[in-house]
Amino acid sequence: MNADLVSVQAEVARLHAQLVRYNLVAWTAGNVSARVPGHDLMVIKPSGVDYDEITADHMIVCDLDGTVVQGDLAPSSDTAAHAYVYRHLPTVGGIAHTHSPYACAWAARGEPIPCVLTAMADEFGGPIPVGPFALIGSDDIGAGIVATLEGHRSPAVLMRNHGVFTIGATARAAVKAAVMCEDVARSVHLARQLGEPIPIAAADIDRLYGRYQTVYGQR
Ligand SMILES: [Zn+2]
Repeated sequence: MNADLVSVQAEVARLHAQLVRYNLVAWTAGNVSARVPGHDLMVIKPSGVDYDEITADHMIVCDLDGTVVQGDLAPSSDTAAHAYVYRHLPTVGGIAHTHSPYACAWAARGEPIPCVLTAMADEFGGPIPVGPFALIGSDDIGAGIVATLEGHRSPAVLMRNHGVFTIGATARAAVKAAVMCEDVARSVHLARQLGEPIPIAAADIDRLYGRYQTVYGQR
């Protein structure tokens, strides 16, 4: 357990640097968490610590009710939302949350990002959906994420008037989805400035998604 936990803490700390590298976060507004395999525990960023200063030792260990079981700092203010998702979606091993700007521009309008690029079909298997408006401080955000993503192929949801939550089998997969979400949010936004983007046929989305999810990358 301890070796597992230390490696999860190191991975979650390392992934926060990717949020900065891909320009997904301003100040400290964004976070990554991971489930500790085989345990009802999660590792999440502490609240309000600069990304440059984050180390594995800072990472907070919580149970899946969001109660801190190890760590000296207060956990991310989004801990309850992450914990809710882990409780309700057992295949989720990692979660990322950002206020990345182009994705937030869609979230501010409450508009799903239409599937008009093959990269979107690959990663999201369709449009990126919008979740409900929800205030922090209860289970509303977590419940909105789960209700929107359950039965949806997209690993990303745009929470209305808020930002992006992504899920994955691993924390790395969740961060990748957050990077791709911002990338396609930007490209589709740019396309919109020039005219109406052309939809991809549903059957082609299915083919692209199926191929990417089973064939792409190193196996
Ligand atoms: Zn947020």
